[in-house]
Amino acid sequence: MGDGTNNIMVILSSPSGAGKTTITKKIQEKYKSFKISVSHTTRKPRPNEVDGVDYHFISNNEFKKLIDEGKFYEYAKIFNNFYGTLKTNVDELIKKNDIIFDIDWQGTKQLSKFTNLKLIKIYLLPPNKDELKNRLIKRNQDTPEEVTKRYKSFDEDVKHWSDYDYVLVNDNLENCYKQIERIILSNKESSINLTHTS
Ligand code: ADP
Ligand code: 5GP
Repeated sequence: MGDGTNNIMVILSSPSGAGKTTITKKIQEKYKSFKISVSHTTRKPRPNEVDGVDYHFISNNEFKKLIDEGKFYEYAKIFNNFYGTLKTNVDELIKKNDIIFDIDWQGTKQLSKFTNLKLIKIYLLPPNKDELKNRLIKRNQDTPEEVTKRYKSFDEDVKHWSDYDYVLVNDNLENCYKQIERIILSNKESSINLTHTS
């Protein structure tokens, strides 16, 4: 690592509530080389969220300006709010770090068009819809209306699983985390080998 040549980018997507934020944070805690790509959003912060850590919380006007200036690698409107990944953030981070993205299927499609990015795309599923509902309620960070909106988006979201390199069920958290860890480590290894042999 150092010049960014072997650094990888991991995308974690899932229906809302399946567990990607939890797993993303676990990866970053264990692997200091991994940094989370902190997105910009027009959504209001949840009670436990910190500006600049969980998201950069901005207004609609600020977001639109960034779109007009072509500053995003990708952005999408999700649950009536905008979410996006700034080019400068990613380009700076990847020089010295591996990056993990918690973005949806629309953003994944857009990022995939940048064929120079070494992306590993992972889609997480909940074990079943009842458990998904339990997790959305248990998180206790959204209003009941938001929980319903998120729960209802499952059917559309899940249609996009085949855009991903890996599809995993997040039933037992530790097992799922270990599977993701193995995927990341093997891709990291092959990224190093590819660089050495080319
Ligand atoms: P997402 O980021 O995909 O919307 P979160 O990571 O916020 O989902 O997880 C939603 C809720 O489910 C949180 O309360 C989290 O602690 C819980 N959770 C995540 N993974 C599991 C799991 N494997 N088993 C039980 N609860 C989980
Ligand atoms: P939440 O409001 O629960 O934090 O996120 C809602 C959805 O937005 C999740 O599916 C999350 O992955 C997605 N998301 C968060 N940041 C981005 C981003 O920068 N781009 C895209 N396309 N989706 C994002």
